Amino acid sequence: MSYSIKTLYYTLQGEGFHTGRPAVFCRFSGCNLWSGLTKDRKKAICNFCDTDFVGTDGLNGGKYPTAESVAEKAYSLWPAETEAIPYAVCTGGEPLLQLDSKLIHAFHKYGFEVGIETNGTLPVPDKLDWVCVSPKEGAEFVAEKGNEIKLVYPQNGLDPSDYEDLDFDHFSLQPLEDPSIQHTTHSTLDYCMNHPQWNLSLQIHKLLNIP
Ligand code: SF4
Repeated sequence: MSYSIKTLYYTLQGEGFHTGRPAVFCRFSGCNLWSGLTKDRKKAICNFCDTDFVGTDGLNGGKYPTAESVAEKAYSLWPAETEAIPYAVCTGGEPLLQLDSKLIHAFHKYGFEVGIETNGTLPVPDKLDWVCVSPKEGAEFVAEKGNEIKLVYPQNGLDPSDYEDLDFDHFSLQPLEDPSIQHTTHSTLDYCMNHPQWNLSLQIHKLLNIP
């Protein structure tokens, strides 16, 4: 199987539990909750997306013919001569439309720990090293366990307390980025202070102006 990848790049994880950790980001093309086109935004299930996942025209993007070719390219972006364990974050779009056990195996062959950021609508394959699930209001939710649940807040009809008993190690609440970001940041902060199971997650890559 080939893999459609929007972009592959080396950066820092900008949000959630691993904020600040250097990682190779593998951004897959396509999502099952929005086409990614502005004209379709109103009818999308998920309509607050801030990511361009359409096509394969980003940095190092393309149609990769094999799992090996993706992992090899990702490894070429990791700094040479370091003892640190390489870390790959599979994201999108929705990575589980494409990420399969072959690709997880190929990443592992190059020594990567493999993390995923998924919207939770699709079954999660075994052998991932870090599973971060971000449920979306109005979308089916099947990924009820993992390492981290990261909820964008607020979302109409989606109550963080509905997720508190699920099998996750870390609970992150992240302000919805919209024109009232200051307001959503304060209400997210308030929610965490009043419900300390939740940690505030901020998108530091935007503050730092890095990808
Ligand atoms: S599920 Fe994620 S990638 Fe898909 S439209 Fe929503 S925020 Fe964007």
